Amino acid sequence: MEAGTYCQKCVLNEYYDNISFNNDGICNFCESYESVSHSVTLQNDEILHGIKNNSDTYDLLIAYSGGKDSTYILYQLVEKYNLNVLAFTYDNHFLSETAMENIHNVSEKLKFDHFFFKYDFNFTKSVLSKSIRLTKENKLESFFKTFGILCYPCFMLLSIAAFNLAHAYRIKYIVGGWSLGQLPNLSKFSDEKTVGFLNEKAVFHHFIHPLLNELKLKEFPSQIKMYSNQEKQDISIIPYFLFEQYSERKVFELIKNKLGWKQPRDTDGCSTNCLLNSYGNQLFMDIFHYNRYAEQLSRQIREGTMTREEALNAIENIGSSFIINSIRKTLGQ
Ligand SMILES: [Zn+2]
Repeated sequence: MEAGTYCQKCVLNEYYDNISFNNDGICNFCESYESVSHSVTLQNDEILHGIKNNSDTYDLLIAYSGGKDSTYILYQLVEKYNLNVLAFTYDNHFLSETAMENIHNVSEKLKFDHFFFKYDFNFTKSVLSKSIRLTKENKLESFFKTFGILCYPCFMLLSIAAFNLAHAYRIKYIVGGWSLGQLPNLSKFSDEKTVGFLNEKAVFHHFIHPLLNELKLKEFPSQIKMYSNQEKQDISIIPYFLFEQYSERKVFELIKNKLGWKQPRDTDGCSTNCLLNSYGNQLFMDIFHYNRYAEQLSRQIREGTMTREEALNAIENIGSSFIINSIRKTLGQ
């Protein structure tokens, strides 16, 4: 196979770990694929109905990025399940302007309360730049490969801020928007063999702690202390798409028709809210030689929720080179 050749069925290439191809150019992962539903079973949504607490506290916190999936989930939680929702947007300093507009428009159409949170810019830049350095030093390789070179630190910061907020408001559930294509990745870091609910302790132990430990952020004591001093209770993390078959088409249709959501033009084909993503993808390609989204998109192709052509379009829309270059400079790379 020549460099960069894709499997004929999915979008993995020969640089993906432990891949091989048969004579028809089909990879071993496609050949031996068992549906995600074997490891991740769609569950009855009575759990979502059951978290309504009928008290004066919010029923749940949703990590709301303004992207397509979390916008869809927010709509369902408010309109279908009639829940008392506190939404939380982690602003990483690199959100698309259209994403901000979408958040603003949605907040005028649905009934929920909302927080924005932004860490100091120098702190954010330091965490991102140090993560790039760790990747180049081959530290935490399986984590960066699974979650992305810039998405992992970003998602760690988001998680810390979200847990702090949930504690402050005594909220017991946080809902996230991982698709079924992404869920098996989470199970790698869960105590359970199959993905179900994650809790705060497992997320801290398997996800937050390994990176925090390597980053050695002693010069930013308040940002980190705030979280580590919290009494960790059992806050449950609920992946919404455990309860509903994920369909990108259905998601777009609902949020465009019901909420006037607009597709950002400044992001790449794999993000609908974040400008960092295109630079993160390029770094990933430079270091690991395959697309950061190839694994989850390939799983969606095999599940029949996306065509190979749609996945290739998403991967090949790499975003604006102007934005990529300006982010590279901002992060001192
Ligand atoms: Zn394949």
